[in-house]
Amino acid sequence: ELPQLSEDDPQAKALQYVHESPDAEKNCANCALIQGEDGKEWRPCAIFPGKAVNAKGWCSAWAKKP
Ligand code: SF4
Repeated sequence: ELPQLSEDDPQAKALQYVHESPDAEKNCANCALIQGEDGKEWRPCAIFPGKAVNAKGWCSAWAKKP
């Protein structure tokens, strides 16, 4: 299990990452950059190596899954 990304992490702050997305239609679970298993609450993300992001989270690098 990867450690959870903190909202206070400097890179998280730079990309405005939050554990709860402010947009109902955009979240980590439907982002092209999410990795790992569908359905997990905390998952790896290509943008934040070595950390897990919340499936309901969001950051400014969000991109629609193709
Ligand atoms: Fe979530 Fe941002 Fe990673 Fe996409 S790039 S999965 S929105 S943290």
